[in-house]
Amino acid sequence: MNDVYIFTDFDGTITLDDLGDKLFLDFGQFEPFHSELLSHKLDIRQYWELLFESLPDNIDEQFIRNWAAAQQVDAYFLDFAEFCKGNCLPLAVVSDGFDLYIDAVLSNINQNHLKVYSNKAKKNNGSWNLTYPLATESCGCLVASCKRNALLKDVPTDAFLIFIGDGYSDFCAAQYADIVFAKKSLARFCFEQKIPHHNWRSFFDVLAVLRKILHSKTVRPRHQARLRRMEAFKSE
Ligand SMILES: [Zn+2]
Repeated sequence: MNDVYIFTDFDGTITLDDLGDKLFLDFGQFEPFHSELLSHKLDIRQYWELLFESLPDNIDEQFIRNWAAAQQVDAYFLDFAEFCKGNCLPLAVVSDGFDLYIDAVLSNINQNHLKVYSNKAKKNNGSWNLTYPLATESCGCLVASCKRNALLKDVPTDAFLIFIGDGYSDFCAAQYADIVFAKKSLARFCFEQKIPHHNWRSFFDVLAVLRKILHSKTVRPRHQARLRRMEAFKSE
């Protein structure tokens, strides 16, 4: 098998809740913006701008970091991350959420060495400044940070890619991975699109399958994913 690289979503995957929803449900305003995003009245950047603007003035970066550090993480994520480290498998986090709360959660569980691809939020002179380093026009996947590009950016072209996710923002990346772990709406999407995938509930399940994959001599790259990756390389 070629070099294995593992990418995992963050919200609802590493954390039990979607912190990118919860932050605004708890402290700001979530609706009608979320419904407007789903009905395409807002694009994803307009959506994030409105949500961050809805936060009260007293909510600053430090407040969000403290709040995030208290959020629940999948009970087996740490075992999974340690397994990857022990087996020299590069593990990266790919998120359409924000560095601010992702970094706080990862620091809290001593995993801040993990590479994170995400949007960025900073508060300057009382107003939020949001940036999207992975935004791309060559992919039409309608998220602020195209996860496909995180998968393709820093790995060898013949790498064996494993992707773990749960939701809408993972639809794009799943099509480019050799092995997909999917739950919730990502599992439905993979089923509909006939993308082979492993269903998972916690990182316990992911780890069990990963061990088998690494011991197996018969795991092959997924042909459709390879073709898509070659096309994406050409278009970037
Ligand atoms: Zn994309």
